[in-house]
Amino acid sequence: MQLIATLESELQQLEQRGLRRRRRIAETPCAPRVELDDRAMLAFCSNDYLGLAAHPRVVEALREGATRYGVGSGASHLISGHSRAHALLEERLAEFMSPHLESARALYFCTGYMANLAVITALAGRDAAIFSESLNHASLIDGVRLSRAAVQVYPHGDTAALAAMLAASSAVTKVVVTDSVFSMDGDLAPLPALLALCERHGAWLVVDDAHGFGMLGANGRGALEHFNLRSPYLVYMGTLGKAAGVGGAFVAAHETVIEWLIQRARPYIYTTAAAPALAHALLTSIELIAGDEGRARRAHLQALIAQLDQSLQLQRWQRIASPTAIQPIVIGSNDETLRAAAALYAQGLWVPAIRPPTVPLNTARLRVTLSAAHTCDEVAQLATALNALEELA
Ligand SMILES: *Cc1c(COP(=O)(O)O)cnc(C)c1O
Repeated sequence: MQLIATLESELQQLEQRGLRRRRRIAETPCAPRVELDDRAMLAFCSNDYLGLAAHPRVVEALREGATRYGVGSGASHLISGHSRAHALLEERLAEFMSPHLESARALYFCTGYMANLAVITALAGRDAAIFSESLNHASLIDGVRLSRAAVQVYPHGDTAALAAMLAASSAVTKVVVTDSVFSMDGDLAPLPALLALCERHGAWLVVDDAHGFGMLGANGRGALEHFNLRSPYLVYMGTLGKAAGVGGAFVAAHETVIEWLIQRARPYIYTTAAAPALAHALLTSIELIAGDEGRARRAHLQALIAQLDQSLQLQRWQRIASPTAIQPIVIGSNDETLRAAAALYAQGLWVPAIRPPTVPLNTARLRVTLSAAHTCDEVAQLATALNALEELA
């Protein structure tokens, strides 16, 4: 059939350009030590930054949630799928984020991707103006497209360019959209300066803290705690499948914003509510993040980051300094990066190679992510392998 033949030829082109992706099958839970396609590997690639994805207490809470609430929610939140577990999770998240938001309320979503589509399309109608950071995550970009609002993209971290755009805009509704931690570099957006601009120009500041929630801040409240911010202009999105180890996401903001999302956000309204058992398990994850164990895990993760920094002795390759679990090592050439990732893999170390167009030309890199579940010995093993590889390359 012609339609199939067209797809096959496009797939072949991907193959020829070295861009065809393949999934690896994990036989074991998400953890540093995984069994992958029947091989034992040491992984530096998950976003399970605190090592909660297979934490016995969270696993037990999921089991308990399934016993108490069943497995499926059965309907969307506005029909009959909104359970006590969802309501308790939302209350807990609102309370947790309340030092940083006025009249805080929270809304639980099935995924961060959907939460971003929801926030942007609900806040920015066709008449709005959106100001979008150039390195934003795909889900933010898709939300901007779906909104059909006018969009201006400002260069990475360039608050002066954003200030000029905001000053020149006559739109009644202005929305600035940014990642807090950029996923391929691990650097932070200048949130205090962005917030000051938004307050001055009466714009919403939508912050996607997928890589900060649970990880940054003394209590794990993420980028807002890291920068000590509080404002009614903030609309905060945190994901719950990364540091929180389970799945889904939440938006926290002024209660009126949340009520608006419930009434208007199509990715919230027209989808079956996530399993209540997940929300129940997340209550335990939040308890761990907010408590002594979370603090200890964040401290261990910071120690591992410092250790990696000190033990890498790179000449040509460059580690991008980041206070987050994302620790990229920029190699430059695509081929050299792929060879390095393959050599690591052959030694049982799983580190993903990231190439353009995901990152700019000539900045192909190994994207190392650390987790509090790693040991010092495991990080030492990685550093030794990287130092040796660079010398050989
Ligand atoms: C992972 C991620 C998302 C999407 O969250 P999911 O819950 O995985 O859908 C959104 N934004 C950023 C920056 C992310 O890294």
